[in-house]
This record gives sequence, structure tokens and C-alpha cells, in this order.
Amino acid sequence: MDLGIRGKRALVCAASRGLGFGCAEALAAEGVELVINARGKGALEAAAEDLRTRFAVPVTAVAGDITTEAGRAAALEALGGEADILINNAGGPPPGMWTDWEREDFIAALDANMLAPIALIRALVPGMMERGWGRVVNITSMAVKAPIPVLGLSNTARTGLTGFVAGTARQVAGRGVTINNLLPGIHATDRAAALDAGAAEAEGITPAEARAAREATIPAGRYGSPGEFGAMCAFLCSDKAGFIVGQNILLDGGQVNATL
Ligand code: NAP
Repeated sequence: MDLGIRGKRALVCAASRGLGFGCAEALAAEGVELVINARGKGALEAAAEDLRTRFAVPVTAVAGDITTEAGRAAALEALGGEADILINNAGGPPPGMWTDWEREDFIAALDANMLAPIALIRALVPGMMERGWGRVVNITSMAVKAPIPVLGLSNTARTGLTGFVAGTARQVAGRGVTINNLLPGIHATDRAAALDAGAAEAEGITPAEARAAREATIPAGRYGSPGEFGAMCAFLCSDKAGFIVGQNILLDGGQVNATL
């Protein structure tokens, strides 16, 4: 299927590896020109070169922390202030107990996982509306549907973003712009490997055993791949997906046990 987005321009945040890279790769495969971002310059430049080589599309790498104003300003400058497609992503807040977190911890989580994507939506969506076409996909988490108690900061910030998107998506849809959220369950990225390693140490088992135990909680019996995640992201960004507005799409192998 031709997704009809060849020649469009996209900003993909937090994209040197993992789910963000999966999205960048799927968009590059459709002929989308990219600005990609991550904090670590070396891995980001390598990811950009990999995409240029394999897909022959222009890819600009802009190193910086997308949760800061300076990081966002650098990415927006590389775009000349305009993009057709925005993929919002960043690392998640740290785990802990609800009794651990002070006001500053909540402010930091809100800054990173709610206000940073909202700032980029505010910067780029007005231009998309003027041009009559745009796509925004926010990478959130299955924790929005089914809370993960140790990730209370993440549950809080991502649910706030979800509320913003629910209303805003319906205010911009009439101008050809869609905003949707993708909710990852467990995917085989460095983050999942780090969580497996942490569980293995806590329980005195091997990382492979920890992974097998987590895979057993997923009806599909395995972790998702960044490639599968990116394919859904590219479809949401396609010209075929203009009627999908303000949705929260779970990619979790069936792990969240719910009818709707
Ligand atoms: P990952 O494999 O650790 O990759 C994270 C990517 O984001 C890297 O390219 C990293 O590069 C970049 N990054 C992190 N913080 C950044 C920041 N502040 N500014 C710019 N770039 C940043 O993580 P992932 O598994 O792809 O997860 C992506 C998101 O999905 C996270 O928010 C995570 O919480 C969420 N999620 C993941 C899973 C899963 O199973 N993988 C499940 C649910 C939710 P640098 O470190 O160089 O910046």
C-alpha cells in the first residue's frame, strides 16, 4: 500500500533507537524527509546515516534534549518552523512509590511527558492547519489504559497529555490535521532490556528468565518490535488515515485485558 506521504517533512523526537527510531524508519521507507532528535550525538548521527543510506531520503540529525526549550528550539530551527508530520516521544519518568514524589518530581514529569509534546503541537500544528494537512502522533504508554503502579509519574503526565489531545484533536480535525496517541505495551528496545535486567537482579534470576516471565503475561507470547510499532505510526501519518481522530491505539499483544 502506498501511504501517499512521499516528500512530506517530519520531525521525529527521541529517535536514535527504540520506538522513535522504528517510527523514523517506517516514515523514511515511505519517502518522508526527516529531522530526527535525541540527546546523544553519536548514536543519532549513526541512525541518520543508516536511514539516508537505506532509503535515500534527506535526514537531518539535531542533538538535544527535547524536553527543554533549547532542545525544541534547535529541532524547530532545523525544520524552518514547519513540518507536515510530528512524532512526539521522549524517555519516561523514573519508577518509585507514590509516597516518594514531591511537587518538583511531578513538575519534571509533566514538563517532559505532557508539556514538551504540547509545546511542539502548539509550534507546528498552526502551520499544518494553514496548509490544510498534518499528522501528529504522540508515543504514550499502555499505562494510560491500565495504570502501572510503580510508574505513577508516567501514569499522571501521560494521562494529562491524553486529555489535552482528546479535546484538541477535535478542534483541528476540520482543517485536515489529525492528532492521535500510540500506546506501547512491552516492546523489545533497550528500555525493555534494562527493565528485564533490573527485574533479574531483584529476583536472583537471569535476564532471559525475567524476559520469559514478562512474555508469559502477554497473550501474543512475545515482546513487540520497533518495526511493528513504526508501521502503525506510518499508517496513522498516511493520507489513508485522515478519519482517525483523537484515538488511543494500544499496541500491546493483548496484554491489557479489556473489552474496549
Ligand atoms: P529507548 O529504547 O530507551 O529509546 C529512547 C530514545 O529516546 C533514544 O533514542 C534516546 O536517545 C531518546 N531520548 C530519551 N530521552 C530523550 C530526551 N529527553 N530528548 C531527546 N531524546 C531522548 O526507549 P523506548 O523503549 O523506545 O521508549 C520510548 C518511549 O515509549 C518512552 O517514553 C517509554 O517510556 C515509552 N514506553 C516504552 C515501552 C517499551 O516497552 N519499550 C512501553 C511503554 C512505554 P538519548 O538517550 O541519546 O537521548
